[in-house]
Amino acid sequence: MPNRELPIAILGATGAVGQRMIQLLANHPWFEIAALTGSDRTVGRPYGELVRWVLDDAPPPDVARMVVQPSDAVADVAIALSALPGDAAAEVEPLWAAKVAVCSNASTYRMAPDVPLLIPEVNPDHLAMIERQRTERGWKGCLVTNPNCAAIGIVMALRPLHDAFGVRQVHAATLQAISGAGYPGVASLDIVDNIIPNIANGGEEDKIESEPRKLLGRVADGRVIEAQIGISAQVTRVSVIDGHTALLSIGFERKPSADEAIAALESFQAPETVRGLPSAPARPIVVRREADRPQPRRDRNAGAGMSAVVGRVRPCALLDLRLVVLSHNTIRGAAGGALLNAELLVASNLVS
Ligand code: NAP
Repeated sequence: MPNRELPIAILGATGAVGQRMIQLLANHPWFEIAALTGSDRTVGRPYGELVRWVLDDAPPPDVARMVVQPSDAVADVAIALSALPGDAAAEVEPLWAAKVAVCSNASTYRMAPDVPLLIPEVNPDHLAMIERQRTERGWKGCLVTNPNCAAIGIVMALRPLHDAFGVRQVHAATLQAISGAGYPGVASLDIVDNIIPNIANGGEEDKIESEPRKLLGRVADGRVIEAQIGISAQVTRVSVIDGHTALLSIGFERKPSADEAIAALESFQAPETVRGLPSAPARPIVVRREADRPQPRRDRNAGAGMSAVVGRVRPCALLDLRLVVLSHNTIRGAAGGALLNAELLVASNLVS
């Protein structure tokens, strides 16, 4: 635990993810918000006057009074949580990483060979890549990323199964919430009474097929050796506000029974360093045994939105096993994921 509140900046603070970051940082025991950034549209104006707040309640009054700063002006903070779109992140995040620790939601640098793609419960050892980043890029800070908001729940469920039985193949079909498209996101006339196949012109499927291999890989000499898992993904956007659902069929090296898989999922625990972090859920994976769970409206807030909820674990007629996994896309899949990454950086003495 740091011996003072560390100042933190939120890049892209006005968007759907930036707002969640502000909400999650209210009364945070380690961090205080010291800077908010936006685009030319909002710079120079008080946050409370310009933000279209899409969460419950309102932004905290002290945050509402803060004036939005340009995203490319690096503030005097210890950590930056980035909720920038990918194109802005490409330019802006390295400027900040040269000086401070950056925890990004953007996809831009997720697959860069020297950038950890991090889920603290899953692959905290990937932080070893930061040393290479600092040596080769000359950064005093660092850049870590959190995964795609649908990939994260999938990988949390796969981690204990991969460790115990060796995952070899995954077929993933997703039903993704509207808030995953940011604000204002998808037009109501497109999404109400509807399901839309494909998100980001195939880009979402590419991320779900590639990111788990990096996340479940191992680090040697500052490089990730990716897990050899074949993944096929099909995605849809559905009329749910928050909570991404994934339907998985999984093939293994050693086929487990459903009970063995449930036992592996239920006994999964984060490593010791992660368990004590302020945003870490007591149970990273919650297994529901009812035949009709998980459901987004009923289960997305499990573990304050930080747990992955797994259900319907049963044999599969094509591969070995199937299950349903749900995770909160703007909390675990975005703002809460970045915050937990920041807490792990502090606990690992990687923030100065
Ligand atoms: P969003 O609602 O569209 O918000 C984008 C934010 O970035 C706004 O604060 C906007 O500021 C700012 N911005 C836009 N263009 C900019 C520019 N050229 N320079 C500086 N700032 C700029 O998007 P979001 O849903 O919050 O997503 C943010 C990032 O997180 C994206 O990279 C997204 O892919 C990723 N992500 C989102 C989710 C999710 O569930 N929504 C999950 C995981 C990852 P102004 O308001 O001032 O224009």
